[in-house]
Amino acid sequence: MQRLHARYPFLEAARESVATAAVDLAAVVERDQAVVDRARNRVLSALEDGTIGEPHHDSRTELLSYPVARVLVSVVGERVLVRRYARAEAETAHERFVADLEDTTELKSVESTAFDLTDLLTEFDLESAVQERGDEEYRIGVGTYLPLAADCWGDEWRLVNRSLADGEVPVDEDELHELLREAIRNRIEDGLPFDVPEAIADDLEGDVTEIRDVLADLDLTREIDTVVPDLFPPCMKALLDDVQKGEHLPHHSRFAITAFLASIGMSTDEIVDLYQVNAGFGEDMTRYQTDHIRGETSPTEYSPPSCATMQSYGDCVNKDDLCERIPHPMAYYEERIDDAEDDDLEDWREADDEAASAE
Ligand code: SF4
Repeated sequence: MQRLHARYPFLEAARESVATAAVDLAAVVERDQAVVDRARNRVLSALEDGTIGEPHHDSRTELLSYPVARVLVSVVGERVLVRRYARAEAETAHERFVADLEDTTELKSVESTAFDLTDLLTEFDLESAVQERGDEEYRIGVGTYLPLAADCWGDEWRLVNRSLADGEVPVDEDELHELLREAIRNRIEDGLPFDVPEAIADDLEGDVTEIRDVLADLDLTREIDTVVPDLFPPCMKALLDDVQKGEHLPHHSRFAITAFLASIGMSTDEIVDLYQVNAGFGEDMTRYQTDHIRGETSPTEYSPPSCATMQSYGDCVNKDDLCERIPHPMAYYEERIDDAEDDDLEDWREADDEAASAE
């Protein structure tokens, strides 16, 4: 059983087995260097290549490295690390359970590291929401589908592109597995970061510094300096659309879109170029406003308004599922960029560069 728990440490039973064994994490952190090393490796691999690294040969060490990795992520306390770490754990779990589901019959007979689809659905209380309908085809209740699909990448996940019938969404087997990966990711992300007692944090100081250094070197913030209008929040898409159609925007709306574009890394010249499509935008006025918002001709660098402010001005339009979970248009964009596959971002950048050199 310990092998199963080491392979899937996010399982409720794995958490209970650590609790039942009365494992004192403080003592583990202080004395069991192999566990701490493997925990640090889980987190660093998540940052560096989106995996959790090679498992330790000893199941106990492997299992305990999971709660210690969560402690490390919590002490560092960066949201981007929480997201990267949870995603890497979930990706690994996904690869493992897909392989295990293929091998289930073979492995179940001996001491099994595998479990079947029913076990997995039960783990996440999904057994009644997911019905098998024929060969590798499933239907999932829409109320269950929506939150799980919210962060899945691609238009095919949008409800409008699904033949919803009787409150159920059809999915094939691979898609069901992807939704399960999302359920795992949500569980892993849940509760992170948490408060860590000072004594434990002190014992992990060197490991935390190493993780912070790698985080700084990776310069994850560069991703927000990426202009991908496809990923803009709905409110900003609508405002940009209005600008480009030449409509007159009230001051608060013009401020919101300009501050947003400046915050995602567009220069004043680029914003002026973008607005020139709109004959109603005098270049001088746009330049003055943009420099002002950027803090170049004023003492303050202005941030785009929060969702609450956007709502109060009537600028919050076309809300989607992600809007329900974020407080700020920048958080929306950050999350979309973070979820975009690196290859997709590369394609967008190349398309941008080509468009720029064609001008
Ligand atoms: S909820 Fe926020 S991000 Fe979404 S449309 Fe409204 S203002 Fe924009």
